[in-house]
Amino acid sequence: MIPNVLSIAGSDPSGGAGIQADLKTISANGAYAMAALTALTAQNTQGVSGVHLVPPAFVKQQIRAVFDDIRVDAVKIGMIASADIADAVADALEDHPGLIIVLDPVMIAKGGAPLLQDDAIATLRDRLLPRATMLTPNLPEAAHLLGVETATTRAEMARQGAALCTMGPQAVLMKGGHLGGGESPDCLVTPDGTHWFEGPRIDTPNTHGTGCTLSSALAAQLATGLSLPDAVLAAKTYVARAIAGSAALTVGSGHGPTHH
Ligand code: PLP
Repeated sequence: MIPNVLSIAGSDPSGGAGIQADLKTISANGAYAMAALTALTAQNTQGVSGVHLVPPAFVKQQIRAVFDDIRVDAVKIGMIASADIADAVADALEDHPGLIIVLDPVMIAKGGAPLLQDDAIATLRDRLLPRATMLTPNLPEAAHLLGVETATTRAEMARQGAALCTMGPQAVLMKGGHLGGGESPDCLVTPDGTHWFEGPRIDTPNTHGTGCTLSSALAAQLATGLSLPDAVLAAKTYVARAIAGSAALTVGSGHGPTHH
């Protein structure tokens, strides 16, 4: 049976990140893709020029419309923008315990534009983190959620992942792309222990939307029934191929998208 996966996230009209990346990724990872929008951004490969929030009650209405009619096998949550939207998402998912939820705590675009209001971090932490099957922070996002300095070593990465794991999610995938050096290690922390995933750093400016892509590939792979480590491996392999494939695209003059 083909799984149904719902992405709750923001729109990127240039197609590289957000809902647009999620729909391509979920489809390419073997699932049926659906999308409930939290925010519209105006952006291209050079940066974000505007953000327009969807009214929270309408975010809730979109999610409820999907659940009222369709079996949802997994949810990916991306940009939630504001505390009120985070509350609306949490409210809409309240009636669905046991759902597979991959939570990508989107905070700042690679170009520096804020995608999450400061006062939304507490709501994200208190209401959405405890619902997550897997939380997928990059190192600055993990540090923000914990209120500590950004990890600079693998040991700190693992410690911060374990600290986040005690805040409610079943597992945390700490993405080490910000660690520097020639590698991009990711650290999966679960109650059963810590698994490291090694990956060479691919030298390209075309990494726009890689966080969105990883989290929606994870949601699709978990929905097919893979274990947490197997889903991480499959999702990382997919993202690495998408980044490598970006060389074939001619999209914009800034941080280009990946190829699905
Ligand atoms: N725009 C939207 C709507 C997003 O959801 C995200 C990330 O999740 C971004 C932009 C940021 O993309 P990046 O930082 O990969 O350029």
